[in-house]
Amino acid sequence: MSVETQNKETLGFQTEVKQLLHLMIHSLYSNKEIFLRELISNASDAADKLRFEALAKPELLEGGADLKIRVSFDKDAKTVTLDDNGIGMNREDVITHLGTIAKSGTADFMKHLTGDQKKDSHLIGQFGVGFYSAFIVAEQVEVFSRRAGTSAEEGVYWSSKGEGDFEVANIDKAERGTRIVLHLKSGEEEFADGWRLRNIIKKYSDHIALPIELPKEFHGEEKDKPAETEWETVNRASALWTRPRTEVKDEEYQEFYKHVGHDFENPLAWSHNKVEGKLEYTSLLFVPGRAPFDLYQREAPKGLKLYVQRVFIMDQADEFLPLYLRFIKGVVDSNDLSLNVSREILQKDPVIDSMKSALTKRVLDMLDKLAKDKPEDYKNFWKQFGQVLKEGPAEDFANKEKIAGLLRFASTHDASGEQGVSLADYLGRAKEGQDKIYYLTGESYAQVKNSPHLEVFRKKGIEVLLLTDRIDEWLMSYLTEFDGKQFVDVARGDLDLGKLDTEEDKKAQEEIAKAKEGLVERLKTALGDEVAEVRVSHRLTDSPAILAIGEQDLGLQMRQILEASGQTVPESKPIFEINPAHPLIEKLDAEPDEDRFADLSHILFDQAALAAGDSLKDPAAYVQRLNKLLVELSA
Ligand code: ADP
Ligand code: MG
Repeated sequence: MSVETQNKETLGFQTEVKQLLHLMIHSLYSNKEIFLRELISNASDAADKLRFEALAKPELLEGGADLKIRVSFDKDAKTVTLDDNGIGMNREDVITHLGTIAKSGTADFMKHLTGDQKKDSHLIGQFGVGFYSAFIVAEQVEVFSRRAGTSAEEGVYWSSKGEGDFEVANIDKAERGTRIVLHLKSGEEEFADGWRLRNIIKKYSDHIALPIELPKEFHGEEKDKPAETEWETVNRASALWTRPRTEVKDEEYQEFYKHVGHDFENPLAWSHNKVEGKLEYTSLLFVPGRAPFDLYQREAPKGLKLYVQRVFIMDQADEFLPLYLRFIKGVVDSNDLSLNVSREILQKDPVIDSMKSALTKRVLDMLDKLAKDKPEDYKNFWKQFGQVLKEGPAEDFANKEKIAGLLRFASTHDASGEQGVSLADYLGRAKEGQDKIYYLTGESYAQVKNSPHLEVFRKKGIEVLLLTDRIDEWLMSYLTEFDGKQFVDVARGDLDLGKLDTEEDKKAQEEIAKAKEGLVERLKTALGDEVAEVRVSHRLTDSPAILAIGEQDLGLQMRQILEASGQTVPESKPIFEINPAHPLIEKLDAEPDEDRFADLSHILFDQAALAAGDSLKDPAAYVQRLNKLLVELSA
């Protein structure tokens, strides 16, 4: 196509765009038709934006307020063309939106590309697909656009073959909005066909709220053919969330999700509700199937699409859900808010607060239902978003119990090592008389599953939850009980098993403690101020000694987090517990030489630190003492 252009320049794509283009072309060949869904999704967004901006500046709608999308084709020229009369783009918009990917962290993310198409195509899912999908079927893409409110000479032309660069130029464009012309690759001519296009639109874009028109097929005699193309609407063209739940098919929800969520894969669950009464609004919330790569980036987009009486108001309205549910996508359409509501107003409006707490409950209920009805899907959900949900108890005090019910843990009673045990599972198989929920935190599953802290629990068959995510210790500082049962860190304080110890157990413990008072005193002298306390342990069956954390002290994980963030960590000393039944401790007790006693004590103390996953303060001293012992042994 030849166009009058001015100020032509050729620009290179951002590296990430080049990678994405390559990935897309090579991994989406089995699902080519989705290019149309993506381009229509963008046109629909453009119409939403225009309608919103026109609330304050009605003159933007000059030249036509009936917003629509037209899709046409030319079999001979092998082109498919999309026209919208939405917000349009100016030269700057085109260069940034169609030449870069604006998401922070994209470059890092792209480093994960393996070159293995199967694996990489999953990465696309975390990204959405978007405009660049046009290159799946087109060897060249041309864009003609003009931003609403600018004059006809301020149009812009963009063209690319989807390789390294693109061309931009100024053009005249009479109508506002965007025209996209796809020059189909050879082999992709099938898309220049009315029947095919109609089917694709029905399949993926029926839910789009504005009319999508195709040229009416003409079946009569050539001489009777109307001079002007007649158009007909092929989609349903009404906002999906305004329809009754019972009339919307699963596939329609799924396609709608891909549009609002800018996702490429199906959601795991959704919840569609109309609220009437004092407040009136409709919400349609989705749980994505996959975490976006920027889930932990502070500036990453989050929040719902806000509509007021079906008029799009803003994207990423993050006032409607707490931060720990930032992965939820969807729309909320309010009848009570004013059309000129702004973010500042949203932040102050008490109406928003009550909507937020209602929507939060909806999400938590939806997750609960997912866990009950589709445990396999919930497992997947947990893998993707479990860590984010763990932020919940600290952020949302009111829903703490509900959130706790959604958490999943690794456990001594689940050999898979996966985080699959719920607190309800745990309590369901608790021992007779057990009124606590026991847990242990640590670096990794491999490390905690063999921790000496578990010995007595193993002996008595009591289940212990194994918490190894970085956030866990912090989480547990907010989670103090569930279903009336207190959480107990098995590595902390003076372990009291309550009713799980028999009277005889307790009596025996007291007697032993008394009998070993002398040894405990000697150890205190030998270890000096390295320990807060020395005592006889009830935690151990197999190991000689163990370190426990003081009731109020910071755990290892919290200390490491604080240290990593450059904060000074309050000094805390461990409690050294010994297992009097262990042969090493018996030997120690019988050791008459005080120097040798001190060496042995230090070795046992250091080993206990190692077993707890801690590092030694003076590793060289440890090695020296151990070597001395080894020399004596072999002498
Ligand atoms: P996304 O839709 O997720 O933002 P896309 O790759 O689909 O990503 O589109 C990139 C950007 O290009 C859009 O955000 C928008 O700013 C711009 N854009 C694409 N198509 C149009 C259009 N038809 N009208 C106006 N802007 C558009
Ligand atoms: Mg898009």
